[in-house]
Amino acid sequence: MKTVYTFVSSPNHVYPDHPERPARLDILEPRLKSFDTELIEAKPAKREEIAYIHNPKLVSALERVCKEDAPGIIDYAPTYVTKSSFDDALLAAGGVITCARAVFNGDAKDAFAIVRPPGHHAEPDRAMGFCIFNNVAIAAADALTQGLERVAIIDYDAHHGNGTQAAFLNEERVAFLSTHQYQSGFYPGTGWIEDAPHAKKRIVNVPLPAYAGDQVYEQVADRIFAPFVKSFQPQMIFISVGFDAHWSDPITMLGLSTAGYLMLARKVVALAEEYCAGKIVFVLEGGYDPMNVANGAETVFIAETGQGESEANDPSPRQEPDCESRIEEIRKWHGF
Ligand SMILES: [Zn+2]
Repeated sequence: MKTVYTFVSSPNHVYPDHPERPARLDILEPRLKSFDTELIEAKPAKREEIAYIHNPKLVSALERVCKEDAPGIIDYAPTYVTKSSFDDALLAAGGVITCARAVFNGDAKDAFAIVRPPGHHAEPDRAMGFCIFNNVAIAAADALTQGLERVAIIDYDAHHGNGTQAAFLNEERVAFLSTHQYQSGFYPGTGWIEDAPHAKKRIVNVPLPAYAGDQVYEQVADRIFAPFVKSFQPQMIFISVGFDAHWSDPITMLGLSTAGYLMLARKVVALAEEYCAGKIVFVLEGGYDPMNVANGAETVFIAETGQGESEANDPSPRQEPDCESRIEEIRKWHGF
């Protein structure tokens, strides 16, 4: 079976000087054909699928704003909309559903939904953080309606996946883990260890200091991702993958290199193989340097197909902080 992908570049969802722009995908797009993968066509999500996660009033309001008032800014992040954004967001969410169904129906080995606008900040009642609809949450909820009973989401974008956490705060069938930069003033400000005391082991936050990089993330993967997946025993894993945790991203201060991203992708693919027959769907979130997005996407395909090697050689020039006590604190809080 093949690794499949969707590509929803939303060329008309664009705003002057905004980092979340179609050009993020410009270096990646011509490289896509070089992988042993198959493109599948994204279908727009239906209103009832969006409504698995989002308040129908928000959906109607967004549609009206896009059609009548766009272009414009709808939240302070700033999140923008254009005339096409509503339809672009339906296609982005639909692209993730298309990928996920291909994997759980057994038509594909695994998948990568390369979509924008991104989704993980969008909460049930509000679009925020460059995100319109929460693509990964909608697809995970769709998997539940298709009969799955345990779905895990691991989010290693540089930012906390606050929208995904909010969507599944009280949904026992979904487990959520997020690694993110955490410090005063860093967006969105949520994602502390103790955010969800009622959901230990199921909602896991890994707040990291600036410059945490390959070595810290390897420890986090081995000592937090692994027991998280082992304890929840998911039937399918989604990865919210953002390439903004790369050390050279223009809007964040984490320290991953492309080699670090490859290590993470291989570790989560191995966890999926160990616990859920390899059923894993990566979903693009952030990443604002087009070269990092291209190199990072390549790491996903290398891990999924088991073929090729990354040629990028871009180690972080910065010293990593010691995160030993933080990792132990998180393990202790959850009883891992
Ligand atoms: Zn991000």
